[in-house]
Amino acid sequence: MSVTTASVHSPHLPGFEALRRQDPEIADVILGEETRQATSLQLIAAENFTSPAVLAALGSPLANKYAEGYPGARHHGGCELVDVAEKIACERAMALFGAEHANVQPHSGSSAVLAAYAALLRPGDTVLAMGLPYGGHLTHGSPANFSGRWFDFVGYGVDGESGLIDYEQVHALAREHRPRAIVCGSISYPRHPDYAAFREIADAVGAYLIADAAHPIGLVAGGAAPNPVPYADVVCATTHKVLRGPRGGLILCGAELAERIDRAVFPFTQGGAQMHTVAAKAVAFGEAAAPAFTAYAHHVVANARVLAAGLVAEGFTVTTGGTDTHLITADTAPLGIEGQAARSRLAAAGMVLDTCALPWGDGRGIRLGTAAVTTQGMGEAEMARLAVLFGVVLREEREVRYVAEEVRDLARAYPPYPG
Ligand SMILES: *Cc1c(COP(=O)(O)O)cnc(C)c1O
Repeated sequence: MSVTTASVHSPHLPGFEALRRQDPEIADVILGEETRQATSLQLIAAENFTSPAVLAALGSPLANKYAEGYPGARHHGGCELVDVAEKIACERAMALFGAEHANVQPHSGSSAVLAAYAALLRPGDTVLAMGLPYGGHLTHGSPANFSGRWFDFVGYGVDGESGLIDYEQVHALAREHRPRAIVCGSISYPRHPDYAAFREIADAVGAYLIADAAHPIGLVAGGAAPNPVPYADVVCATTHKVLRGPRGGLILCGAELAERIDRAVFPFTQGGAQMHTVAAKAVAFGEAAAPAFTAYAHHVVANARVLAAGLVAEGFTVTTGGTDTHLITADTAPLGIEGQAARSRLAAAGMVLDTCALPWGDGRGIRLGTAAVTTQGMGEAEMARLAVLFGVVLREEREVRYVAEEVRDLARAYPPYPG
C-alpha cells in the first residue's frame, strides 16, 4: 500500500520517517488519521488535541521502562529517573486541584473508577449513581461492566422537564437504599453537579462520595467549573478530555485515603505503570497550570454556550436549555430526523460527534463538545456558523455536499498542529 494521504506534515511525530520506511501500512493509517482529524471537525465531547510536548513524552523511551510500585518503592531497578517524572506529575496534580494526594497511574478513567471502588467497597455493596439512561457511565452500574456485575447499583435520574438532577430524588433514594457510596458525575450532563448537595446527602446516610469528574476536570483546572476536591472523598478523572493530556486516568483524595487508593491501583487492579504516559500527564498538568489554559477553559464554555444557543435557534431541543460546560446534548427529532441518522449525516458533512440517551426516555439525541475545536482556535463566530450548518444539513440531505466543503475549509483554516 502506498502512502498517498500525506497531505499534512507530521513534524510532531518523532521517528515517523523511519516508521514509514519500515511499515508503510501502519504509517498510512497514522497519516490518514492525522488528515482526517485535520480536515473534519472533532465534536466528540470526550476528545481534544493534545500538545506536541505531550505527544513527545508519549513517544519517548520512557515507554520502555517497567515501574511496578511507587516512587522510592519499586519492584524493579533503574527507576530513579521515572520516579522523578511520577513525583512531578503527582505534585503538579495536587497543586492544580488543591488535593492532599494524587495517584497518576490509572491507565484510563475506567481504571480510576475501578480502583476507587476497590479502595472503598466490597463486592455486593450498594452504590447510588446516575442511571445509565440519564448519562451515567458504564462504570456506574452497567450490567455489561464489572460495576454492574459486582455491585448493587441504584440509579438516580434527572427531572423529565428541566433535565436537571433532582436532589430530592437523590436524597430519597439514598435514605431508602443506604448506599455505601454515592457517585456524582456523568458522560452527558451539561450542568455542574451541586457537589455540596451531594456531600450533604452522603453525610446524611453515612456514604462515601465519589466524584467521577472525567469530563469537567479540565474545566476545573482552568477555573471554569467548580472543584469537587473539597467535597468528595475520592475524585476520579481522565487526563485526555478537556484537560488535553494523554489518554489516562487520575485519582485525587485526602491524605487519610491515600494508602488505600494507592494499593487499590497497584497491586490490586493494575500492574506496572506506563511511565511515558505518567510523564505526559506531568507535561499536561504543567500546561494546565499556565494562564493560557485558564483562558482556554473559559473559552471552551463560552463557545459551547454560543453553539447551544444556536442549536436552540435552529429548532433543536437542547437538554436543560443550554450548558455550563463544554458539553451539549440535543434532540434532533424536531428537525425530522432521529439521533443515529443525524450522527451519520453530520459525519458525512465532516462533523463528528456521538449519540446519547435523552432524559425524557425515548429515542436518542446527539452529544457534542467544544474542547477540540476551541484548542484549534475557533471562536464564537465559528460556533454560531456551525449551529446553522447543523440545521441546514439535518433538514436537507442534499445539502451534505455543500456543507462538507465549508466544513473542510473551516477545519483547514484552524489546523490543530499549525506549522
Ligand atoms: C470518559 C469517562 C470515563 C472513562 O474514561 P476511559 O478513559 O474511557 O475509561 C468514566 N467516567 C466518566 C463519567 C467519563 O465521562
